[in-house]
Amino acid sequence: MTNLPATHLMGTYHRAPVRFVEGEGCVLIADDGRRYLDFLSGLAVTSLGHAHPRVAEAICHQARRLMHVSNLFDNELADEVAGMLDRLIGDGSPAGGKVFFANSGAEANECALKLARRFGGRGRHVVISGLGGFHGRTLATLHATGQPEKHEAFQPLPEGFRHVAYGDVDQMASAADPAVVAGILVEPIQGEAGVVVPPPGYLRALRELCDERQILLMLDEVQTGLGRTGRWFGFQHEAVQPDVVTMAKALGNGMPVGACWARGEVAEVFVAGDHGSTFGGQPLAMAAARATLEALGEIDAPRQATERGAQLREALVGLPGVIGVRGAGLLLGVMLEPGLSATEIAAAALGAGLVINAPTPSLLRLAPPLIVGPAECDKAVSIIAALLRNAVAAGSAGESQR
Ligand SMILES: *Cc1c(COP(=O)(O)O)cnc(C)c1O
Repeated sequence: MTNLPATHLMGTYHRAPVRFVEGEGCVLIADDGRRYLDFLSGLAVTSLGHAHPRVAEAICHQARRLMHVSNLFDNELADEVAGMLDRLIGDGSPAGGKVFFANSGAEANECALKLARRFGGRGRHVVISGLGGFHGRTLATLHATGQPEKHEAFQPLPEGFRHVAYGDVDQMASAADPAVVAGILVEPIQGEAGVVVPPPGYLRALRELCDERQILLMLDEVQTGLGRTGRWFGFQHEAVQPDVVTMAKALGNGMPVGACWARGEVAEVFVAGDHGSTFGGQPLAMAAARATLEALGEIDAPRQATERGAQLREALVGLPGVIGVRGAGLLLGVMLEPGLSATEIAAAALGAGLVINAPTPSLLRLAPPLIVGPAECDKAVSIIAALLRNAVAAGSAGESQR
């Protein structure tokens, strides 16, 4: 580990004092040569692991051929990738929707928010989201983000956002006044909030509510999408058909790329000039996305997430200091008993050569690459187990001294 020097970067992050310079599969290598097991995947991004040969090759090839031409011209890759996404959303058969490509999750959600306003029409522009949820850092997606403490410093935020308790259908129904509400935007599982899973049937109930009131069901699958939860998309666990789906993180295996999919009738409300992006859908990003989607398909990413997720869950549930494991597939939250600090455990894990994070003070998040093997899962669990045993012992030693 190195001490970070004075920096020219804005202080928007607490950075750990480790500098990674290389990666391969589930392993990250720091500038001092030390190897770390990566169970965070750059925040659920590198699902195929680091330096995936197929993705790297696609990027190199495309960089030598054509990186960028703008959206003023037709592009040989974007339409193909959009078609691939439409098929994944239809779970193998075309879903009949259309895609707008952006460069990040927040931008994918901006597209969804603008679509909702265009679809709802003047005066019918409100979007309701779940408390605790996360949708991005632009002013509008920050307001959609259900964490009021993050809003305060940036008021006034764009008007037209409401929040209700995540998982509570009655509250959503009370807030969803069809005279002013254009859509609902929620995550199938809240990732940043601490891998919060809604009660079974939640998305189905929201679908019914949206149908009844003619409002859009928009799902933020930026973190849950593309195989991570054990299905291609989180909503497929409940077999609902959303109106809008946003994705980003895993889509380029590290190449910045986001996408907003909408079913045909909704997508059609946008006309030329309504929305745009200089970089969105550029050949370089699309080459990475195509290679990523092909490789995720070949490894059957959802099945891989289901199998390794079950292994991890079973091993983690019985560890000292663990009161429960939640999530789906390879998006897991390990709940720690009161008195244990997930922040400290995650920092100690880094010291022990395992990269994980603590989205809340009492919960560890595990989101390893979907290519992770059984032995790597065992190794991660044994590192976490040792740290928890120590922390529990230190806690009870502290208590007996008092
Ligand atoms: C990460 C995330 C975003 C924001 O994505 P960026 O690429 O950082 O803009 C939005 N929604 C969810 C659910 C996320 O996990």
